[in-house]
Amino acid sequence: MRIFISADMEGVTGVVHRDQLVPEGKTYERARKLMTADVNAAITGALREAPGAEFVVCDGHGVMRNLILEELHEAAQLVVGPAHPANKPLCQSQGCDETFDLAFFTGYHSRAGTPGGLLSHTWVGAAVTNIRINGEIVGETALNAAVVGHWDIPVGLVSGAHELEAEARDTIPDGFVWVGTKTTYGPTAALCLPPARTHKLLNEGAAEAVAPLQGGQAEAAQAQVPGQHQRRVPSPRDGRQGRRGAGHRARG
Ligand SMILES: [Zn+2]
Repeated sequence: MRIFISADMEGVTGVVHRDQLVPEGKTYERARKLMTADVNAAITGALREAPGAEFVVCDGHGVMRNLILEELHEAAQLVVGPAHPANKPLCQSQGCDETFDLAFFTGYHSRAGTPGGLLSHTWVGAAVTNIRINGEIVGETALNAAVVGHWDIPVGLVSGAHELEAEARDTIPDGFVWVGTKTTYGPTAALCLPPARTHKLLNEGAAEAVAPLQGGQAEAAQAQVPGQHQRRVPSPRDGRQGRRGAGHRARG
């Protein structure tokens, strides 16, 4: 099994301020460690259900050189470097292709204009107010779901601050496991779970997301744009179907 992970930073627990998001920030080094540990937690969870799984992780935040390679799980390879048409045209989904079975989006955040949303924006906050696909306003979650959906790859797990859950449920296909890392108070404050807790949730969530795909029991299809996704779900005879259904509940 091959799993693609698009990792952002604003949705990681403890991250609430721009100082944490840029290399010149005094607290950036701590935030990038938290971001890397979240990705590792998802990888180790997936490996519990799919021991031979391979991972490609795309650093999808800001300078896109945030994840700490020397701390990344050995089952993964890392896409590093800024988005640019010449070398990283798929931006936060660079590295994904038709060889993958499942996608995870970790540390994601709500779209630009989300009322009271934590660090909300879409791509480049200073330059982009809204992005619409087929008339529907979408955030980075739906945009990247559409990119991986081009290869019929379902999104198995999404993590971030609590307000992202509704956005994700509205704009990407059902069936993903949601992992809440913090409860947003406003644009720069949140009630945050400690990493020891979010790592556990991500670990469990990733295992839950992977289980139905073992044996090819679930797949996405025709997911070029939000709202047109279709998904074949596990057979009712498959005992793991219930586990996938359980993934709809909020975590954290
Ligand atoms: Zn970001």
